[in-house]
Amino acid sequence: MSETRSPRRFYIETWGCQMNELDSQRMAGQLMQQGILPTREPEAADIILLNSCSIREKAEQKVYSRIGEYRRFKQHNADLLIGLCGCVAQQEGERALSRVPDLDFVLGPARVGELADVLARRRSGERVVATGFPEARQYDIDAISRQGEYKGMVTLIEGCNKNCTFCIVPKTRGPERSRPLADVLSEVRHLLDYGFQEIELLGQTVNHWREPGGTLDFADLLEAVATLPGLRRLRFVTSYPRDFTPRMVEQVGKHENICPYLHLPVQSGSDPILRRMGRGYTRAQYLDLVAQLQAARPDLALSTDIIVGFPGESEEDFQRTYELIEEVRFSAIFAFKYSPRPGTAAPRLDGQVYDDVASERLQRLFARQETIQEDLNQGLVGKELDVVVTGWGREAGMQTGRTPCHRIVHFATGPEPVELGSVTRVRIDSARAHSLKAERLGAVAALSA
Ligand code: SAM
Repeated sequence: MSETRSPRRFYIETWGCQMNELDSQRMAGQLMQQGILPTREPEAADIILLNSCSIREKAEQKVYSRIGEYRRFKQHNADLLIGLCGCVAQQEGERALSRVPDLDFVLGPARVGELADVLARRRSGERVVATGFPEARQYDIDAISRQGEYKGMVTLIEGCNKNCTFCIVPKTRGPERSRPLADVLSEVRHLLDYGFQEIELLGQTVNHWREPGGTLDFADLLEAVATLPGLRRLRFVTSYPRDFTPRMVEQVGKHENICPYLHLPVQSGSDPILRRMGRGYTRAQYLDLVAQLQAARPDLALSTDIIVGFPGESEEDFQRTYELIEEVRFSAIFAFKYSPRPGTAAPRLDGQVYDDVASERLQRLFARQETIQEDLNQGLVGKELDVVVTGWGREAGMQTGRTPCHRIVHFATGPEPVELGSVTRVRIDSARAHSLKAERLGAVAALSA
């Protein structure tokens, strides 16, 4: 009789946004609580979880091709379980099980807390589809594996109600739900007690947070979190331009531990395109908000998301976006060609843009942004900055970190490497468009609680 061994190793592959990263930490934590350990080698795993993103079609195709690669491991490990998780799981549901006969289960983003139950059901023979958005959700902050992470991520809002015409997120992550302030504060305090120097608050429209059943808004929450003793660096992502109020701008200016870096997706610099996207703000309103933020915080670095080739985008519309990046001078842009997504409104709009036209616009935008970034980064040469240490460099003796304005820094460790997650002071020696090189000056003491 063959012996069934219980799973001992898991492997998680994560695509997409910070919410997926945090969901992967939550899944890893649940498995570790069962005594199952992580491995970096998928072929050595007994459980493989693919935490997918469906924001663009390419990301969706990638996860299916990966499942195709990993299912071959079942030939030499009959106990291997493969789970499709994340936004493609929610989008595909049952369809994924029919499409891939070897797939063991499908777990949507709002059901991450149920991983242990789903595994137990699979082991007793059921091919489980756990999707949808149940009212009651399991969220155990003690079962989050944050090992090796330099920042502690904390969910503020799940889901999204914005329904931008291009975006699949409301379908995959469900309706917006804010967490109570007391829960957020206790999770942040818990992370500070564990020594995290940097806290990142998460939500698809993080600044739309409201106290459930109450009157407090994101400005009040920022005040409450930023004034917690021992918090050195606070970030939040993603801010929705229309939801940024003057009180929130004031908070960004007021608290030094709120990092001088903000991700503020604009999507397009053209009003007709913004209207078709259903964004609810104009180019002038976006630029006015940028001006308010820069006045409140002169050292603020801004990054943005841009979609090129959205239906109806003419060369003139694209020029407005091009001019906008020249005007704002973002420290980074995340720009993509428009990708039609199922269940969204934009694929039905007229004026679809040819792929080669969109590709050429994207290349032009990146080329211009490269020169802007290089120029901005050159302005930091000679400056002394505190960096939070995020990893090891490719060359021996080098480490990497992030400046408060979120730029990547490579620095020589000196005689003693610096512990990941701690903060060290560096002087910037040279700069390129995507990174800075620095000399390490010394450790910076942790803040006392
Ligand atoms: N909630 C944020 C917002 O609306 O500002 C961002 C959500 S999404 C996870 C991240 C980025 O993906 C978006 O800002 C957008 O630029 C891009 N994106 C979303 N849907 C897309 C699509 N259908 N095609 C191309 N890019 C898309």
